[in-house]
Amino acid sequence: MTAQIINGKEIAAKKRLEIAEEVVNLKNRGVTPGLAVILVGNNHASRTYVTNKEKACKELGMNSLLIEMPEEVSEEELLAKIAELNETQDIHGILVQLPLPKHIDEKKVIESISPLKDVDGFHPINIGRMMTGQNAFLPCTPYGIMVLLEETGISIPGKHVVVVGRSNIVGKPVGQLFLNQDATVTYCHSKTKDLPLHTNQADILVAAVGIPNFIKAEHVKNGAVVIDVGINRNEAGKLCGDVAFEEVAEKAGFITPVPKGVGPMTITMLMYNTVKSAAESLVRN
Ligand code: NAD
Repeated sequence: MTAQIINGKEIAAKKRLEIAEEVVNLKNRGVTPGLAVILVGNNHASRTYVTNKEKACKELGMNSLLIEMPEEVSEEELLAKIAELNETQDIHGILVQLPLPKHIDEKKVIESISPLKDVDGFHPINIGRMMTGQNAFLPCTPYGIMVLLEETGISIPGKHVVVVGRSNIVGKPVGQLFLNQDATVTYCHSKTKDLPLHTNQADILVAAVGIPNFIKAEHVKNGAVVIDVGINRNEAGKLCGDVAFEEVAEKAGFITPVPKGVGPMTITMLMYNTVKSAAESLVRN
């Protein structure tokens, strides 16, 4: 293997120490950052994510409030709960675990969260602020990717970044964050023709597709930085990314593994955003 591994677990641990210090500072100033997580229904994966978020809050000395609602809860009841949390002073972040049951309009729910407490960075106001380079809550996975690169000392201005995937939570915003840092950005997606033609131009290649081992050595330029966002199960049920790790690591300059790559950064940046929100609430009040 020639590629240097970008160890997301280690970088996340370092960032969490910094966040824990900031929590202590805020507590000394009379504010304990608090995150409310709403879980609707009993989706197994969602419950695991929510448990991990609660655990991270506890480890960092923050407050967490889990609100569980049954699968059949009405949209109205969910919106009423969010409205209440928007007004609750010791809650600085509100997160509604997605996906929601089909009878609930996800966009409406996201827009009902106060942009000041939207620590997932999904509210159109935060997305617009991010696009125009203003202070915003940045979506956690894309933000985590930028921190991974920064901590690894990889420079971005002038680089050609190719993002494979255009979802609202990963692909689109990560491309925007690279653009904000003066990269040249190409988006590829399910309708892109001749994918390898584009990906082979990438100095930095981001794979956010959701297909196990989709990006092969033939997609990657020698020495490229390869960021694997995918969290998938292969045929044997083993956790794997969107990148065929073994063969791509022979060609890439840097690569993130799965697990212990991008994954640990997502919750870390959620904690970061919640602490940022608590600090900003102090300035406002
Ligand atoms: P999504 O399903 O919303 O989007 C997938 C994207 O891939 C789409 O934009 C689609 O156009 C593109 N795509 C599909 N087939 C393609 C093809 N043949 N060629 C090129 N592009 C193609 O997925 P998402 O929510 O962005 O998630 C992507 C992956 O990242 C998933 O595995 C998900 O589990 C993972 N994920 C990880 C984290 C994390 O914390 N590490 C966070 C979010 C998502």
